[in-house]
Formats: sequence, structure tokens, C-alpha cells
Amino acid sequence: MRNFSVFERFSKAFQDHPSLTRILVVSTISGGGLIAYSEANASYGANGAALVETGTRKKKVVLLGTGWAGTSFLKNLNNSQYEVQIISPRNYFAFTPLLPSVTCGTVEARSVVEPIRNIGRKKNVDTSYLEAECFKIDPASKKVFCRSKQGLSNGKKEFSVDYDYLVIATGAQSNTFNIPGVEENCHFLKEVEDAQKIRKTVIDLFERASLPELSDEERKRILHFVVVGGGPTGVEFAAELHDFVTEDLVSLYPRAKGSVRITLLEAADHILTMFDKRITEFAEEKFSRDGIDVKLGSMVTKVNEKDIAAKTKGGEVSSIPYGMIVWSTGIGTRPVIKDFMKQIGQGNRRALATDEWLRVEGCDSIYALGDCATINQRKVMEDVSAIFSKADKDKSGTLTLKEFQEAMDDICVRYPQVELYLKSKRMRGIADLLKEAETDDGSKKNIELKIEEFKSALSQVDSQVKFLPATAQVAAQQGAYLAKCFDRMEECEKNPEGPIRMRGEGRHRFRPFRYRHLGQFAPLGGEQTAAQLPGDWVSIGHSSQWLWYSVYASKQVSWRTRVLVVSDWMRRFIFGRDSSSI
Ligand code: FAD
Ligand code: MG
Repeated sequence: MRNFSVFERFSKAFQDHPSLTRILVVSTISGGGLIAYSEANASYGANGAALVETGTRKKKVVLLGTGWAGTSFLKNLNNSQYEVQIISPRNYFAFTPLLPSVTCGTVEARSVVEPIRNIGRKKNVDTSYLEAECFKIDPASKKVFCRSKQGLSNGKKEFSVDYDYLVIATGAQSNTFNIPGVEENCHFLKEVEDAQKIRKTVIDLFERASLPELSDEERKRILHFVVVGGGPTGVEFAAELHDFVTEDLVSLYPRAKGSVRITLLEAADHILTMFDKRITEFAEEKFSRDGIDVKLGSMVTKVNEKDIAAKTKGGEVSSIPYGMIVWSTGIGTRPVIKDFMKQIGQGNRRALATDEWLRVEGCDSIYALGDCATINQRKVMEDVSAIFSKADKDKSGTLTLKEFQEAMDDICVRYPQVELYLKSKRMRGIADLLKEAETDDGSKKNIELKIEEFKSALSQVDSQVKFLPATAQVAAQQGAYLAKCFDRMEECEKNPEGPIRMRGEGRHRFRPFRYRHLGQFAPLGGEQTAAQLPGDWVSIGHSSQWLWYSVYASKQVSWRTRVLVVSDWMRRFIFGRDSSSI
């Protein structure tokens, strides 16, 4: 296993970037460690700096969103033939996997964000940023309409921006499923502000519970924290909160002792259902040992100001008094995306459908990636006749094994489900696939296939089409992929490197996007984390917690945030979490 030592990475980065003058100042103030890090001479190219004019007009790329997908696209784009106009209501990138840590002050809010202008400034691509929200996309006039929170000089707040290419990376929003009272009474955990609000509310509730003349019952209500949703975010938040309470708050708030309760409501039969069963079981047992009350099969039906109604599968409704609810049940579509989908005839979907090259279906020059989009993988059965005739090079009306084998590389690149099918059935190759489809009368079929037999051989492969999860990992990989495509647009126009077009002529310009799953973590509190790595490798406990620290330190978007996050962790180890209500 690779060693993810943070300090190794520090020294590697210094070696990797000799052109940057970096000063690492480590000083000790009042017994605490302060690490300040500054990067000099890193700015070139972009805003204000001279750029070589090529004579031809630069293609204008409008990028909507500064989250995982948008920032990854921006960081990886290197072709100076483009100018990038970034539009987002948020002038920073936020490292969302650490938001649960921000809710309890394990990590400070400013340690997990990086100004987007910092990222743009370090590029040799011309970039500029507008703090505004896009509320309408008009593919016909190639314009996006935006609204700024701050007024423009003419007193208006709305303006439009033209594009040659549009990259939509606006993410998603919290989903309330229209359950009454959720919007008004619950906290969400999606943005940095949400995490900050939760942190303040937790402390405020402990202060309130410590006031005199409070009945025991009221104190217990105030200190009842309810988490709705047993996915990774809800589980991690419950674990963080439990650590915060037991490690820091209980000793500071003696009156609260014995009154704090954490309840996790999950509608399904288990928490962390997207993880391996071993992890789910471990998490449920650990929570039960920690005193976190996990109520499985509990559907929230209504949230009032002071209590939350939940229904069990048997139909029993109970009303649970609470002090704070954190709602973390999944994601929904943003209004601008809903509106755009309606315009382009995708009105009944949850996310924008794109092809395997991340192009919005039916829209030239518009790309969508991250949580706002899903890839519509083309089915083999839709193209089966075209595939057959492409593979049948001698036009004999039958396919030999050799012909099929020769076409197989392109088929597997274009339709990854074929490869997944072969793997899932533990087949060694095409011959096995053909054998599977073989009917009683024929060993000959292994050698010469008619179209019907070919169809039957492939008839099951589409069952392997996988939808990608809405995660930072997917969004970041898509951003990097799309940037590479943009960088090489001209080159690949001349020398296409994608698979053969089954329905048209020639080859696709690029290879389609392929997701590489690198594994996932579920921090469970008490310095224990569950890790599920590719190949069903599961590890749970303190060692995975160290892996988690190293991976999350290494995945930071800049050296500045990396240093801040690591020093926050060290600060927490030494001094505990800060409980000031600011
Ligand atoms: P986002 O990162 O949400 O970015 C969307 C961007 O679009 C934002 O900058 C937003 O301001 C901007 N925007 C919104 N509306 C508009 C508009 N109208 N016009 C212009 N811009 C707009 N994933 C993992 O893989 N691992 C994890 O551990 C993990 N932990 C998570 C923990 C939490 C608390 C949360 C909330 C999510 C977590 N995720 C994790 C999921 C991950 O954060 C998302 O999948 C990822 O952020 C999706 O990236 P995105 O770029 O599509 O959207
Ligand atoms: Mg033939």
C-alpha cells in the first residue's frame, strides 16, 4: 500500500515545483504551533498579465459553478486558446468532505475553502470571475442570464453573458422531499455556511440548557440532536457531534451531563447502505455502544417547531421533541437546471442527461458534469444492428469470431457495460460470451454468427449499465476529463482517438469518460474510520483513520488549505475543539 505521509507529500511538492519560490515559516507562538506558508511568484498568465494574442479570437468558455467539478475543470485546463468566464454565487471552492468536521470546530471553515480567483490566477489560461447566480440558460442565442446579489452600476442586478462553450457545474441542492416543516425548521449540511450555522447552534443550545429555572424535560428537549438520513454525511455528522459532546462539551457544561441525546433517523433498514455490509454492521454496533440512537425504518412525515413526527414501517407515528435537526437525506435539482431541462425536453428527469463525452444531449457546445448531470450510457441493444454491420468487415452477413474479436476493443470502449458483463460473469473473453448465447443446435455458432445470434449473445450486457454516484470523486474526475478534451479539441478533430462511430462514419474525437473508483471512507468517530477500497478491500478502525487523514490532506486543492487543515487537526489534538459561540 502506498504511504500517504503528509510530510512526504510536502517535500515532494517542493521537489516537483522548483520554479516556485516557496517559503515555509514555522514559528511557535504561545506554545501553539503556527504554520504559515506563502507562495511567491506563482502568478502568471491570467488576469492582468500579458497574454500572447494569436490573431484569432479566443473561444469563450463560460463555466457555471466553483464546486468540485468546476474547479477541477479550471485547474486542469491548460490551453491558452480559451478564455474562461467563471460565474458562481460563491467566490471560493469548498472541500465538502470536511464540512462535517467544520460543524464541530474540528476544522475551521476558512481552512476548507480556497478563493477561486487564487486558482484562476495561477493559470496560463485567461480567466475571470463574476459573483452571480445563473438563472437562465438560452442555448438558442448562446447566452446565460445571471443575477448578482450586489447591484450593478445601472442599479440593475441582472445581466447576460455570451459563450462559445458552456460548462454547467452547478451541483445540486438539499432535497426536502416537500415534507412539511423541513425547510423552516431543519439545518442542512451542504454549504460552508450551513456547517458554520450548525456549529453556532450546537453551542447556543448547550448555553441555553445551562440557564437556570429550566425544567429537566425542557433541558432534555433542547439537548436532543436529531440527524435525518443515514448516508455518509448524516453518519459522519452524528459521529462528529458525539465526539464533540463527549470529548469537549460535557466537561465544560456540567448541567448538560446526562441530558444530551443524539438520534439518527433512517428510512431504510440500515445506515450506510452504499457501503459493504461489514461496514454497515460495524457502524450500527459502534453507534449503539456510543449511545447514538439509530432508528431504522423511520420515515419523517412532518417537522414542527419543537418536535418531529416519524412513521415506522408498521405505520406507527411518533412525535419526537428536539433541540436541533440536521437534514441530510439526499440531493435535488436546482431551479436553473430544472428550467433548462424543460426547455430541452428533459423535463421529467432529476439531473441533466449527457452523453458519455459529458455533452448535454441535443445541445451543441454545452457540457454538464458533477451532481447536476448524469451520463446516459448508450445501450448496446439500441445499436446492435449497426455494431454487427461495422464488425462484419467482409459484408458476408455473418460474423466470424475473428471479426468479432477485432471489433471488440472499440465495442468495450464505447459500451463499458460489455466489459463489466464479461467480468461479472467471470468470462475469459468473447468466445465464452458466444457460448453463453449458444442454442441447442450449434457448435458452428462459435465460428459464424448471424445477426440474431449476435443479438442474443449481447442481450444481457445492458443490465450492467451503471449510474455514477453524486460524489466529489466523480465530479473531480469529470472536470479533469473535460479539461483534457478541451485542451486537445483541435488536435483530436484532426486525429480522432475515440472508438469507431457505430452509427456514423469515422471515429469519435475522444475516448468517452470513464470513472475510476478509488474507494470511499466513512468516519465513525473516536478516531475510527471505515474504508472501502477497490476490490472489496475493507478496513475499519484506527489505521483507516490515519489513511483518511493522509488522503484528505493530500486531496486539498491548494498547499495553503493543506497546511491549514493539518494544523487544525494538530490544534484539535493538543487543545481540543473551541466551544466559543462566534
Ligand atoms: P458542488 O461542489 O456543489 O458545486 C456547485 C457549484 O455551483 C457551487 O460553487 C455553487 O455555488 C455553484 N452554483 C450553484 N447554483 C448556481 C447557479 N445558479 N449559477 C452558477 N453557479 C451556481 N463526496 C465524496 O466523494 N466524498 C465525500 O467524502 C463527500 N462528503 C460530502 C460531505 C458533505 C457534507 C457534502 C454536502 C457532500 C459530500 N460529498 C462527498 C459530495 C460532493 O460534495 C458532491 O458530490 C460534489 O460537491 C459535487 O460537485 P459539483 O461540482 O457537481 O457541485
Ligand atoms: Mg463476416
